[in-house]
Amino acid sequence: MSIASIGEIVWVVGIIAWYVVRYPFERRAKRVRVMSNRRSTTDTIGLAAASLGLAIVPALYVATGIPRFADYGAHLWLVGLGALVFAAALWTFRRTHKELGRNWSISLEIREKHKLISTGPYAAVRHPMYTSFLLMGIGQMLLLSNWVVGLAGLLGFAVLFFLRVGKEERLMLEFFGPEYRAYMDRTKRIIPYIY
Ligand code: SAH
Repeated sequence: MSIASIGEIVWVVGIIAWYVVRYPFERRAKRVRVMSNRRSTTDTIGLAAASLGLAIVPALYVATGIPRFADYGAHLWLVGLGALVFAAALWTFRRTHKELGRNWSISLEIREKHKLISTGPYAAVRHPMYTSFLLMGIGQMLLLSNWVVGLAGLLGFAVLFFLRVGKEERLMLEFFGPEYRAYMDRTKRIIPYIY
């Protein structure tokens, strides 16, 4: 088996594991009442860009090899590193879901009895789930030896993140006021101590 196909298999297993983590939260979220919904066209565009870059483009690549012109030679150390980064992404993703619990939404929403979470991964950064998406993008870039597919994931992440993060923080400030202000003062957005 080629190194490139090992990378592809790891990516497929990783993306299935991603959905196994998310699925129970999607089901549960349907049962928790939404008090304030800030879904907007911009947010839909962000979610579509992230799905395209982090799921659809790489899945099509694994299935068909398109776009073949952008392939480069796979290296075992890149694929190995990619597997580690993807595993770190999944671990972070799982921890953020456990910590957010019933406060989680796929979009920007305030749920009934919404609580501000600032523990676990949320003690390190304000948006650890977006950190996990960034790690997924980096993992994808290392696992799939194709320039277009590698950049697609990072681009998808960037579109979702930058369209959303400012709005999300304004929403949290609106609901949690000084509590969120103080939380902002002691945390970074997605990379501990840096950004
Ligand atoms: N940006 C966070 C959460 C993503 S899920 C992260 O990257 O980990 C998006 C939902 O989480 C939004 O509806 C928002 O209301 C909620 N949310 C964001 N930060 C939160 C926090 N610290 N505590 C509770 N809910 C939060």
